[in-house]
Amino acid sequence: MKGEEKFKTKCVHAGELVDKQYGGATSPIFMSTSYKFTDVEFNQYPRYFNTPNQIGLAKKIASLEAAEAGLIFSSGMSAISNALLSHLKYGDHVIFQNDLYGGTRNFIKKEFPKYGIEFSFTNGILVIDFENEIKANTKGIYIETPSNPTLKIVDLSSISELAKDKNIWTMIDNTFASPVNQNPIKYGIDIVLHSATKYLGGHSDICAGAVLGSKKRIKKIYNLAKNLGGSLSEMTVWLLERSIKTLFLRVQAQNENALKIAEFLDNESWISKVYYPGLNHHPNHNIAVKQMNGFGGMLSFELVPEIDSKKFLLNLNLIKPTMSLAGIESTALSPRLTSHALLTDDEREQQGINSQLIRFSTGIESFDDLKNDLLNTIRIIS
Ligand SMILES: *Cc1c(COP(=O)(O)O)cnc(C)c1O
Repeated sequence: MKGEEKFKTKCVHAGELVDKQYGGATSPIFMSTSYKFTDVEFNQYPRYFNTPNQIGLAKKIASLEAAEAGLIFSSGMSAISNALLSHLKYGDHVIFQNDLYGGTRNFIKKEFPKYGIEFSFTNGILVIDFENEIKANTKGIYIETPSNPTLKIVDLSSISELAKDKNIWTMIDNTFASPVNQNPIKYGIDIVLHSATKYLGGHSDICAGAVLGSKKRIKKIYNLAKNLGGSLSEMTVWLLERSIKTLFLRVQAQNENALKIAEFLDNESWISKVYYPGLNHHPNHNIAVKQMNGFGGMLSFELVPEIDSKKFLLNLNLIKPTMSLAGIESTALSPRLTSHALLTDDEREQQGINSQLIRFSTGIESFDDLKNDLLNTIRIIS
């Protein structure tokens, strides 16, 4: 990765607070909700997103994404909803990539009609699929790459070129890639969103979100966010800062394991299909090579029809059949039965989600142990 050495140092040190009182090695934590009056527009207060720990963490994540500024939220959905609603108003139209995180899709479908905001989903992931949806009142494009759960790759440069040409903004949910593997701002994307519950937190014990972008755009989001109130508690801000110190090491290990697992599964007779952007036969492998530093820790695969996917998941031993992703422990789930259960059959079919599909979130365990768990499970259930 270009600038890898700098990135490693930033993971550890960017945005850290200095303990002037005792000279401690880590950022002190300031739990105060009330601060001495100063002459600035907004005095420090947790819901104003401007307490010392919140500001430090926002700086840290912004520096990892090569952004001017950032805001930390109490969940990924809080970050996503605030970013979208602050950039849209009654009568506006926005284009969404069809492959979308389930919660985001649900938010748009349930809430946007109440505000009179129009939206379209694309038919595919090519620039032309986005261009085809542009109307006179279109204000922005929202993408997710690699996508959930089939790891589709959207070309960041060409989407941002299209948007600039049409004078509209672009937002990306960069959760699956993490800032280690992809920095969309370098490719001209305006706003980067993260569910910090995933790779940034990385230990399946923190719920948080982040928005990164130019100072101007972050100010716009902030003006709504201070009214809606979605700030993150100081304690969790501090824990998230601590987690990010190991972000590079964790994600690097997850990238390596995921590639090995994808290559192993690709040659197994009980697997009919593997989705991983690091495989040569992935349809968008070349775009992934161009815009990603690593191919990520997420992959999906289809079991052959003879294998019952629920039975497969429940017989795994080391790999946990849990809902979330990106932790240092490997997990697997059936999108059909969990993350994408609320979609209609048509929506699922369009996104390539069937009952044989398994989404795999690679942890940092030994590859041999993970491989043996998969092989043992197949032995037990067949
Ligand atoms: C989990 C997730 C979200 C939502 O984040 P929360 O922290 O659960 O609110 C959004 N996008 C993607 C891609 C996710 O995986």
